[in-house]
Amino acid sequence: MMKVVKFGGSSLASAEQFKKVSAIIKADEARRYVVPSAPGKRFPDDTKVTDMLYACYDRAAKGKDFDEQFEAIKTRYNEIIKGLELDYSLEREFDTIRACFIGKAGRDYAASRGEYLNGLVLANYLGYDFIDPADVIFFDDSGRFDSEKTGKILATRLEQSERAVIPGFYGSMPNDTIKTFSRGGSDITGSIVAAASGADLYENWTDVSGFLIADPRIVKNPRTIKVITYKELRELAYMGATVLHEDAIFPVRKAGIPINIKNTNAPDDHGTMIVESTSQQSRYTITGIAGKKGFTSINIEKDMMNSELGFGRRVLEVFEKNGISFEHMPSGIDTMTVIVHQEEFGKAEQEILAGLHRNCKPDSIVIETGLALIAIVGRGMRSTRGTAGKIFQALADARVNVNMIDQGSSELNIIVGVSDEDFETAMECIYNTFVPKSV
Ligand code: ASP
Repeated sequence: MMKVVKFGGSSLASAEQFKKVSAIIKADEARRYVVPSAPGKRFPDDTKVTDMLYACYDRAAKGKDFDEQFEAIKTRYNEIIKGLELDYSLEREFDTIRACFIGKAGRDYAASRGEYLNGLVLANYLGYDFIDPADVIFFDDSGRFDSEKTGKILATRLEQSERAVIPGFYGSMPNDTIKTFSRGGSDITGSIVAAASGADLYENWTDVSGFLIADPRIVKNPRTIKVITYKELRELAYMGATVLHEDAIFPVRKAGIPINIKNTNAPDDHGTMIVESTSQQSRYTITGIAGKKGFTSINIEKDMMNSELGFGRRVLEVFEKNGISFEHMPSGIDTMTVIVHQEEFGKAEQEILAGLHRNCKPDSIVIETGLALIAIVGRGMRSTRGTAGKIFQALADARVNVNMIDQGSSELNIIVGVSDEDFETAMECIYNTFVPKSV
């Protein structure tokens, strides 16, 4: 058994958190490769080191004095080193970084130093090798992750280390400059390392005990999802559920490695297992609910639309030409509805309406804004009768009017559209219908 473990910023924000992380790693021999983030927030109003680095570098790039900002960053690391009672100093590293800031080494370089320095401290504390991602994680000339080159070089390098720390979030470009992934990208590094090392499991340690069935800002104390498939996760993530960087799924999924989301502050909690497929039924028919406000529906009516060859294509062509991608497209016999993001659509509204009239000659076009979409996702829905009925009964009982229904052909999700004002009520009543209050 071999595991790759990634620790998020809040898991490594202070010496106290480092101690928890070390205890977790040492508790299981299989945890051989460790991917750390930069120190995150210690309390709600705190600033992540990554953000401190960006701000500091922005001053340096403008030729402004950045001493004060740089000192604050040094203090964050020095406090950790002191708290861990390490006989270790980052002074030489700080000097190099300062010189590179003056030499305008780039924003990505600046941001990456958060993970780099944290990796050095962690490797020293654990007594593990340190592998600089600049030497093993690569981007191509256009800035895209180069999985082929990385896979080969990283795998070879990992074979030489029994135990190692590989900082998250960055790699290098063909011209040797540093490039980062998008924000939250250490999750991706963890996934890449798991795939390259042939790990059995990728543990992603954070400050929550896994994915929740619904957004806790809307539903009070929602339960945790124990097992979720990659497909279900994609559906929920698309609708706004976040814990893991979206791109972190691909490298491990390809290699058939499951991800376990775990809580550094409650390591005994089961967390959420993300798997390719499972014979385990989800506990409550539905696996999760997620939603977003701010959509617009454009309802196009035309008699005999069904028999008009190319009608759908002509409608979508208008959206495409105006650079608007559509989210859903439920249709009836003589109607077609295109659902788009309100904000995007607003910018090209008149052009699209004119284009639709010209291209499709509809009988009428009705626009409705303020639409919220809710995705009810679950592999269990396929084999459970009456799921849709239950959802609509719950919404009717809560006096929520349903504006749109769309069921994915995979039978993995049902999407309902309600008005923005009904969004919270709808989420709550659907959750309460499927998840019993006290189990
Ligand atoms: N430290 C980076 C960020 O704040 C990357 C990460 O934590 O995953 O986005």
